[in-house]
Amino acid sequence: MNNKNILISGAGIAGLALAYWLKEYGFTPILIEKHPALRAEGYKLDIRGVAVDVVKRMGLQEVVFKARTQIKEAIFVDQSGKQFTRTNPDLCGVRDEGDLEIVRGDLCQILYKQAANVEYLFDDSIANISQSEKGVHVEFEKNEPRLFDLVVGADGLHSKVRNLAWGDESQFLRKLGLYISFYSIPNYLHLDRVEIEYHSPKRFAIAYCPRDGMAKAGFAFSSHPPLHLDLRDQSTQQKFLQEAYVGAGWEIPRLLEFMKDAPDFYFDCIAQIHMPQWTKGRIALVGDAGYAVAPIAGQGASLALVGAYILAGELAEAQGDFNKAFDRYEECLHEFVKKNQDLAKMNVALMEGNGVSWISSKVIRLIWQIGKILPASVLQLIKKRGLRQTTKAANALSLKDYQRY
Ligand SMILES: Cc1cc2nc3c(=O)[nH]c(=O)nc-3n(C[C@H](O)[C@H](O)[C@H](O)COP(=O)(O)OP(=O)(O)OC[C@H]3O[C@@H](n4cnc5c(N)ncnc54)[C@H](O)[C@@H]3O)c2cc1C
Repeated sequence: MNNKNILISGAGIAGLALAYWLKEYGFTPILIEKHPALRAEGYKLDIRGVAVDVVKRMGLQEVVFKARTQIKEAIFVDQSGKQFTRTNPDLCGVRDEGDLEIVRGDLCQILYKQAANVEYLFDDSIANISQSEKGVHVEFEKNEPRLFDLVVGADGLHSKVRNLAWGDESQFLRKLGLYISFYSIPNYLHLDRVEIEYHSPKRFAIAYCPRDGMAKAGFAFSSHPPLHLDLRDQSTQQKFLQEAYVGAGWEIPRLLEFMKDAPDFYFDCIAQIHMPQWTKGRIALVGDAGYAVAPIAGQGASLALVGAYILAGELAEAQGDFNKAFDRYEECLHEFVKKNQDLAKMNVALMEGNGVSWISSKVIRLIWQIGKILPASVLQLIKKRGLRQTTKAANALSLKDYQRY
């Protein structure tokens, strides 16, 4: 088959899934990851709708199901830390029947095992790319230059491949005005497979224990940082996070104390990537690199899995005609991406207390004010409305069956 040697930049969810599928179809994927080892950090992620079907097609249903988080209950607390509602974690995490929640690192490890017989170049990054009729000439930061038939950027929100092939990310990155941060904490709250959530207008915090021996803290907040702040720098990120939660109650001050020593501190803006096209000549983008939907949609991992499945499948079906494959990849995915990006915008509006089509800003503000005294059933009813929108977006695509040639 032509176009056999395919360099994938980024061994995250999209890159690992793509490597697996390409290998299945007889291609030779080579994965380059800038970190010295697999980056198995992060929060818990959801796999929903058609992405669950992709997991099944990879033969991973059982192993992913076993590794899913074991959270039994979601507890809501107020400013003073008093519990006022306990609810089903699936409803709280807007997961329909069959959807799964898994810690990002566990999913990465599973995908890594599944794509084991692939060449990996850890601790390196692409430095330059140029295309010709012969292929894509790639220069690396550390390895010797090589020629590949195709290059795929699966290197996340701040993709290097996108940067090199399409230009500066500011053209495509749409910040949604929110930030997230997650990291491991000691389980000093003695959580046993529960999550404790603190909601206030524009500030959300969570502490959870998805299974034995693991406890994490998470934050999502809305803020407009001063222009002079360089949010790529970790100590500035931590200072910014600390300041965003001044005056917040519950255990927040204590949870924030742990960030300095956390081995896996993660911080980023909540942003989307909007591009007119995800392919250019012999280069393609997959997952967050091409169409990040933003963590607030809870659909990033699902889009990465579905995008990888379709890109590899179309390349296999086109039997060497990568132009045709890339066109089909774009066609198949555009509407699905749009629906999921819209979902994120809806969730941002809700978090900021603005109305959306099915709930007005007045009602949201009222819920913020009297949330504590509302019976759990009322809060569950509202969550169910959100679940309907999420399920619709997560299933807004039919997977094709691709032949193995
Ligand atoms: C460490 C980490 C923690 C995360 N935690 C969360 C979280 O808590 N909540 C959440 O909603 N989302 C989180 N995400 C993002 C989430 O994983 C993605 O939104 C989603 O799963 C889509 O996956 P992706 O493979 O497209 O991108 P990602 O999962 O971001 O994977 C991109 C991969 O590319 C690698 N990479 C980046 N630049 C280069 C380069 N120049 N050369 C080679 N490799 C490169 C990265 O190290 C990473 O392994 C996290 C991502 C990372 C990398």
